[in-house]
Amino acid sequence: MDIDIAVVGTGPTGLATALALAHGGSCIALIGPAPLPHRKQPLDTRTAALFESSVDMLKALGVWEVTLPHAAPLKAIRIIDASASLFRAPDVEFRASELDLDAFGYNIANSVLVEVLYAKAAHSVAALYPANVERVELTPSHARLSVAQGAQICARLVAGADGRNSICRKAAGIAASEHAYGQAAIATSFTHRAPHRGVSIELHRQGGSVTTVPLTDPAASSVIWIDDTEEIQALMQLDAEGFMAALQDRLEGFLGQVEETGARAQFPIARLAAETLAGHRTALVGEAAHILPPIGAQGLNLGLRDAATLADCVGEARKHGGDPGSDDVLSTYDRARKVDVLTRTYGIDLLSHSLLSGFLPLQAARGIVSHGLNASPPLRRLVMRIGMMPPTELPSLMRPGAH
Ligand SMILES: Cc1cc2nc3c(=O)[nH]c(=O)nc-3n(C[C@H](O)[C@H](O)[C@H](O)COP(=O)(O)OP(=O)(O)OC[C@H]3O[C@@H](n4cnc5c(N)ncnc54)[C@H](O)[C@@H]3O)c2cc1C
Repeated sequence: MDIDIAVVGTGPTGLATALALAHGGSCIALIGPAPLPHRKQPLDTRTAALFESSVDMLKALGVWEVTLPHAAPLKAIRIIDASASLFRAPDVEFRASELDLDAFGYNIANSVLVEVLYAKAAHSVAALYPANVERVELTPSHARLSVAQGAQICARLVAGADGRNSICRKAAGIAASEHAYGQAAIATSFTHRAPHRGVSIELHRQGGSVTTVPLTDPAASSVIWIDDTEEIQALMQLDAEGFMAALQDRLEGFLGQVEETGARAQFPIARLAAETLAGHRTALVGEAAHILPPIGAQGLNLGLRDAATLADCVGEARKHGGDPGSDDVLSTYDRARKVDVLTRTYGIDLLSHSLLSGFLPLQAARGIVSHGLNASPPLRRLVMRIGMMPPTELPSLMRPGAH
């Protein structure tokens, strides 16, 4: 079989990439472990808040209808300075209605999203290999992939969506810089007595934050608790009652009594930035190219924009009968993604350092910014738009009405 593109990785970004490229008419091989049904897979406890443009992409790919019953609308985001700082900043609330939107986006369990995307991809790609790629060899005209269990695949382009330790990135000789913050996150869910009313709450303290994000049950939210790695390890050791009490205390009464908590999993907080998103016959997407701390719900939204942009670049080449893995296509892809990826990666890094800082002038500056945001609806709207939208034109699958 003549494969145009081998997509490596069956996380949410790889699956969306395979679907986006198949939607554009390319012949795709998808390689990566098959997800287990989410009920048997409690360990990816992450949820992802997906902004409007990501939701538009899921609509265009034909998976939104089955995702919607599992998706909770995010109507407002409330940011609370819970530090003991002299310059404690006032609370700031961003409301989707200020942008004339019903919701900023929707919060969806990663495991559900992966299951939905995989089911669709299994019927959309030309070949599916539910196993790991063990070796990638790049020749001038092709990429050759060796898959566990012995299969060999030859394609003109590899889309590397194989996450943090990407073998596609390494095979293409693309260097990546990594920074560890000495922090980790617990992702879990909990039920609470007061309804969330579609509001996500971020409580920031020096050294860490707790963010709740609404789930479909009005009395249930997901939570991301970021702290020093040792503190997170200690929280992971607590039994359910101990963790519930710690969470109750940390939430300072927001959302009322904590009633039950779900399975907990721990994730390292790191920044990773590949020096380029494209190498010889290789395009990197998602966490193979960039990892950010989970602040401001940026990671997967960024990965989906990679996927949709790659589909545009390959689609343009296809119109002229061009090679999807040519240097031209790949340098266009890299240029198209650079600004968005760099501004998000280093913007979130800056935010993360400012939240960690005990430096008084920086805390005072945060207070001034919060006052400014409260006083100025146009400034609030600008910040909301920057948070949700890339600085560049949206790729076609993400434009409203693309579906
Ligand atoms: C606590 C937390 C909360 C978050 N919340 C949000 C949020 O609200 N909004 C948001 O946008 N983002 C959020 N993120 C980020 C988001 O979860 C990630 O960006 C996203 O899951 C990354 O997906 P990915 O497909 O790029 O990588 P991964 O999920 O790591 O997938 C990589 C895939 O590649 C496969 N693989 C690896 N090696 C090979 C190989 N050799 N061959 C074949 N397959 C291979 C793996 O099995 C895996 O399936 C959050 C992250 C964390 C930690």
